[in-house]
Amino acid sequence: MPHPVVVLGLPYDGSSSFQRGAAEAPPLIREALTSPAGNRWTEALIDLGAPGRLHDAGDVSIPDGPGAREKIETAVDALLDRGARPVFLGGDHSVTYPILRALGPRHPRLTVVQFDAHPDLYDVFEGDRYSHACPFARIMEEGLATRLVQLGIRTMTGHQREQASHFGVEVHEVRRWPDGLTPAIEGPVYVSFDLDGLDPAFAPGVSHQEPGGLSVRQALDVIQRLPGPIVGADVVEYNPRNDVGGVTARVAAKLVKELVARLLE
Ligand code: MN
Ligand code: MN
Repeated sequence: MPHPVVVLGLPYDGSSSFQRGAAEAPPLIREALTSPAGNRWTEALIDLGAPGRLHDAGDVSIPDGPGAREKIETAVDALLDRGARPVFLGGDHSVTYPILRALGPRHPRLTVVQFDAHPDLYDVFEGDRYSHACPFARIMEEGLATRLVQLGIRTMTGHQREQASHFGVEVHEVRRWPDGLTPAIEGPVYVSFDLDGLDPAFAPGVSHQEPGGLSVRQALDVIQRLPGPIVGADVVEYNPRNDVGGVTARVAAKLVKELVARLLE
């Protein structure tokens, strides 16, 4: 019996540059995940409701200021020490940096696959090196991942193009999206899913709605085709304050389900 996959909520939005609200996401994604509107089976016929498959570790209590990143890193470290394979519910995208501070060193040759409208590669954004616009600059400069593969990008800037070249980031922009895209990856994979990588028609409940994005089906197809093993994942940037009828919570829950399915392989 493999270790169960553990879901851990990271209700933190103190590094959001535009709107708060992502800290309210974890309980609403959980509610969608267990809603009687659907069942607990994944598309590959894994019953996530079966005993020992999926464990909910609740939410980390995170201060809204200095100390937030340390708190997240410590909580993730403790979870990984217990042998758990984690799926994290954000929170804004800044949480991925402390997650990888704990997870990255445990997996040599780690590839991070990032779904996002934005590269999040700013060296500094509005005076903040730890803004949700910067996590992947921190991750790459500290060597917490060997490769970074970005999918869904459509807000590249000159500075971030230079950063992407500097760090050797593999950027797949939506405007050149090939049918059947399957990144060639060997070794462990961490998936970081910023919901604004999807088109706002599918996922309006995000702080930075950027038209021209991926469909839910395109994203699921990539997740289901990714070479494994997948050793962890996060679903971040759900902002319930901008959602329409809870549709984005259901999209987040669907992504969590299909990511858990891959983590259980
Ligand atoms: Mn992001
Ligand atoms: Mn984004």
